[in-house]
Amino acid sequence: MRTRAAIIREPGKPWEVTELSLDEPRQGEVRIAFKASGLCHSDEHIQTGDSTGRLPMVGGHEGAGVIEAVGAGVTRVKAGDHVVCSFIPACGTCRYCSTGRQNLCDWGAQMMTGMLADGTFRFHDDGGADLGGFCMLGTFAERAVVSQNSCVPIDPYIPFEVAALTGCGVPTGWGTSVYAAGVRPGQTVVIFGAGGVGSNAIQGARYAGAAHVIVVDPVEFKRSKALEFGATHVYASAAEAQEAVVEMTWGQLADHAIITIGVLSAEVV
Ligand SMILES: [Zn+2]
Ligand SMILES: [Zn+2]
Repeated sequence: MRTRAAIIREPGKPWEVTELSLDEPRQGEVRIAFKASGLCHSDEHIQTGDSTGRLPMVGGHEGAGVIEAVGAGVTRVKAGDHVVCSFIPACGTCRYCSTGRQNLCDWGAQMMTGMLADGTFRFHDDGGADLGGFCMLGTFAERAVVSQNSCVPIDPYIPFEVAALTGCGVPTGWGTSVYAAGVRPGQTVVIFGAGGVGSNAIQGARYAGAAHVIVVDPVEFKRSKALEFGATHVYASAAEAQEAVVEMTWGQLADHAIITIGVLSAEVV
């Protein structure tokens, strides 16, 4: 089968939309027709070279679609199911999955290569190169073959463009506030950056009962959206926020600082 896909061949070069050949699903694998995909900054990190993966690679790790075909031994989904893909697979049986830490599934070791369980790749270009999908997915392809362990079935009434966001940005941001930081009622949280991850960190902090959800972002549009998502205060710079945090916490400062900006640098703002 042929599929169109957006790929990266070399860091620093733009996304290339091209046609690839796609193998049939093997043991435990499924073929998905993606209907919606987010563009996460982690994809851009591959394009810019800020993070390095095995290239060439099909981009995208935040997608939802329909299962078109299943390989042998597939039990979690069937043809016709609507699914959202997880950016880390959950095999269910490794040490971490079996102790409730699916976010550390052993299979995640291949996120940056896209190699599937039998050590091979399903995407191939016309020059004979094998391509992995980012996070073992490649949601920037119209079709992809992925492990059933990367798929979570969803009810068919859920719009694909909404479901896709729960593949990375929503759990990453929400989980950072609610689980990693463990925000408690009454606390003060400062969130740097109100993009896809940050806007979900805002919602998580608000849900967890933070008294002050303070957002720092230089982009006016993001600051106004942050207020809709539950921020109590928004500032364009860290310096402005610092002054306000000192004031509103009687000098005790924030309980948590959550950094969800694109690229960290050593510049003093
Ligand atoms: Zn992501
Ligand atoms: Zn696992």
